[in-house]
Amino acid sequence: MDRLIFRAQILTLYPEMFPGPLGTSLAGRALDEGRWSLDAVQIRDFAEDRHRSVDDTPAGGGAGMVLRADVLGRAVDHARARQPDAPLIYMSPRGAPLTQARVRDLAAGPGATILCGRFEGVDQRLLDAREIEEISIGDYILSGGELGAMVLLDACIRLIPGVMGAALSGEDESFENGLLEYPHYTRPQEWEGRTIPEVLRSGDHARIAAWRNDAARELTRLRRPDLWERHPDARVRSPSGVRREKKDE
Ligand code: SAH
Repeated sequence: MDRLIFRAQILTLYPEMFPGPLGTSLAGRALDEGRWSLDAVQIRDFAEDRHRSVDDTPAGGGAGMVLRADVLGRAVDHARARQPDAPLIYMSPRGAPLTQARVRDLAAGPGATILCGRFEGVDQRLLDAREIEEISIGDYILSGGELGAMVLLDACIRLIPGVMGAALSGEDESFENGLLEYPHYTRPQEWEGRTIPEVLRSGDHARIAAWRNDAARELTRLRRPDLWERHPDARVRSPSGVRREKKDE
């Protein structure tokens, strides 16, 4: 395999959390096979005072502690020097929500350098002074960026060529085409009186594809109207029941 491997650098106060769950299953095997690499860097190693302090109280007062710009600046510069072409990411609830599209882009690139916050977060000047992309994994607050970094990496690693068993199994998954995926079934044929939809047993590939397509649309429309609204096939139903194009088209 001559492809350059995906290199992840994590800046964290808890390097011992890694690889953690990324050391098992698909990601773990790929790590053992050298398809990606992981380097967890201890932020505290960049503290310069006697107490090796990395945080301080917030300017303006208030609860909690803030990670210092000078310490993080040195850590970030060190990581960037080692891998100048990798995007620099700060896991942050204020970041752009992570999407499958961004995951695909990242997975196709050289890797990522990921800064994990703790406490109240990081000094804003660091984010302003370095080119740092902020990514959120959802509208809730974690106690640190490490689990977010693992989520981001897990999503990327499974897309690295050779990592997923069947090369095609990534393609019609949820979000890949702007839709949630259709439901799955497997043996036994009947379970607690419930059977597998007949069409899936028909062997008629065109009918199966059509059924899956319809099911994916229906699921998306019902569960994720936000996604469905952005889908090219979405139509707005007027009160009279007449179908018309989306308003903004
Ligand atoms: N005071 C901050 C939250 C700090 S939580 C605020 O209200 O915005 C501590 C750290 O956890 C953050 O610095 C960030 O790195 C990480 N974190 C928390 N929630 C996250 C989320 N939804 N996505 C990604 N990272 C998150």
